[in-house]
Amino acid sequence: MTHVVIDGRAIGRVIELEIAEQVADFIQNNGRAPCLAAVLVGDDPASAVYVKNKHLACERVGIESKLHRLAGSTSEEELLDLIAMLNDDPAISGILVQLPLPSQIRSTYVLDAVHPLKDVDCFHPENVGLLTQGRPRYLPCTPHGCLQILHRTGLSVAGKHVAIVGRSDIVGRPLATLLSQKDSHLSPEICNATVTLLHSRSKNLAAMTREADVLIAAIGKPKFVTADMVKPGAIVIDVGINRLPEGLCGDVDFDSVAPISSYITPVPKGVGPLTITMLLQNTLAAARAQIGL
Ligand code: NDP
Repeated sequence: MTHVVIDGRAIGRVIELEIAEQVADFIQNNGRAPCLAAVLVGDDPASAVYVKNKHLACERVGIESKLHRLAGSTSEEELLDLIAMLNDDPAISGILVQLPLPSQIRSTYVLDAVHPLKDVDCFHPENVGLLTQGRPRYLPCTPHGCLQILHRTGLSVAGKHVAIVGRSDIVGRPLATLLSQKDSHLSPEICNATVTLLHSRSKNLAAMTREADVLIAAIGKPKFVTADMVKPGAIVIDVGINRLPEGLCGDVDFDSVAPISSYITPVPKGVGPLTITMLLQNTLAAARAQIGL
């Protein structure tokens, strides 16, 4: 079967150009750029790379970014003090707390402390609630990246069976919410799916993924999804990022699954680049929201 390998990086570049134009307009109208404050605690090398990539992406579209780097021994109280300061600073549009945090800090407690209008990751309960009710303030970045990939490739999920493997609060669960909603801000084709949300306790997982017109893997297990788990002609979106000695790989066994799929995202250069692009979009939206736009 012929299949299309979706180029997430190219889609991300197109959206970045659109955001850059909107940022230029914002600066012209308001005299200052949106600003993202990134908070990095400790020296996890992968987190440092993510934060650096977010900083570079901000630069590309004209968004300012400020890095707050704290020692791995930082206490929860110290981190909360910093969050409170950033919440109160009118020059800061969005706050990004890079996860994971060191074990002495309760992540939920810290994420809940971010002001909902500055919560560009869409982790705050108020923003999750609004999302669940179908009136989102911000969209969570990775799920939004998946929606953009489908939309910008001209694909439809409306009325189709979408199976999502993985039910995390960051990826699988919000993605299931968004794809099953009645309306979408993007297009009527990117909602109204019939969604099956699968996880580690699901029975007969492969039988259910084989029924899916669209299969989304967000598990964190290298090459977990193999060809025998995929319906021929399915659209396959691989959210997984796994570091192996030979390099990055996704949750989908690309070499065996690609030939039976109709569309598939690779790892790297699939969903990953879109996640950062959507963070930029939320930072601009946050800057607007804070001046009542
Ligand atoms: P989590 O570890 O939070 O969640 C993993 C989910 O997969 C859980 O719901 C878990 O089930 C489920 N799972 C684990 N093992 C199995 C199994 N054998 N069968 C069925 N389900 C299983 O991961 P995240 O959602 O945060 O991330 C998932 C992947 O996506 C990771 O590789 C991560 O690196 C990547 N990622 C990529 C991003 C990007 O920018 N592209 C952004 C965020 C994440 P249960 O709930 O029962 O434990």
